[in-house]
Amino acid sequence: MTTGKLIDGKAFAAQLRERVGTYVPAFHQAQGRAPGLAVVLVGEDPASAVYVRSKGKATREAGMESFEHRLQDDVSQGDLMAIVAQLNADDAVDGILVQLPLPDHIDDKAVIAAIDPAKDVDGFHVVNAGRLAVGEEALVPCTPLGCLMLLKDHLGDLAGLDAVVIGRSNIVGKPMAQLLLQESCTVTMAHSRTRDLEAVVRRADIVVAGVGRAEMVRGDWLKPGATVIDVGINRVAGAQEGKTRLVGDVATAEALAHVGAITPVPGGVGPMTIACLLRNTLVAAHRRAGMPDPEGL
Ligand code: NDP
Repeated sequence: MTTGKLIDGKAFAAQLRERVGTYVPAFHQAQGRAPGLAVVLVGEDPASAVYVRSKGKATREAGMESFEHRLQDDVSQGDLMAIVAQLNADDAVDGILVQLPLPDHIDDKAVIAAIDPAKDVDGFHVVNAGRLAVGEEALVPCTPLGCLMLLKDHLGDLAGLDAVVIGRSNIVGKPMAQLLLQESCTVTMAHSRTRDLEAVVRRADIVVAGVGRAEMVRGDWLKPGATVIDVGINRVAGAQEGKTRLVGDVATAEALAHVGAITPVPGGVGPMTIACLLRNTLVAAHRRAGMPDPEGL
């Protein structure tokens, strides 16, 4: 039986944010402005408001320009599209992020399709998804990019490893599988229709779980020494009445008896998502300005 290590995503993310910040002065000097990220928030969803606030704070801490657009939840499709068009045309804006989920009356696919792919720092536009799929230069969704960084930091070369990605969403599972394939892993994608998930997971050297089901993956499903990236964020009842706590898609305490390493929830993948958003904004700014990509990010 092995005793696994917890992968400190918080510390890695702090270092990444700091490294992003070190590139800002040279960009400013060359372009006469800092890279800029615009975040659009529709409505008052408290979780979304917290995300938007922390994205703005992290952007400013990295020395970049943050533009926030807060719209009422009854904003029309046309008015929202007009704001996206305005941000597309604004040269001070390198990255555009429309915080999801959007209210039901808004066609979110149309909104994402309206974002200039060069400014699509969430990597959700079909042009970026397509470029990732064919191995061309793309803006890659932040969460899977962060997962890949943690995996490479922990394991080094991933070539030849068996990787199982549980979940096939466009924002987590699919881009994660593409990234692992690019690293020459042998990739299996599992989802709600997968037969005998336990057996599929058991053969994996790398497991990435992005499902949204609290502690679904049990410790004894995991191959001894496997590396596990737990993307799930699930709120469950806490030990004290009325209190809640966050858990991932993997039963962490059980898993630690089997795995080589696992990301905790919270403090694993979550902090990497914002750090990668800053990274993508910096990269988008360099590409738009015709400057080479910052190295080592
Ligand atoms: P979605 O609901 O879009 O996708 C969930 C996926 O899990 C689907 O592909 C679904 O399969 C699959 N699934 C559901 N039930 C099972 C099951 N019993 N066995 C195997 N697969 C199953 O979620 P997201 O991808 O948006 O998010 C996944 C999780 O990651 C959530 O907990 C979310 O909160 C978290 N998250 C965390 C982020 C972070 O920054 N840390 C960022 C984004 C998400 P099917 O397609 O067949 O329905």
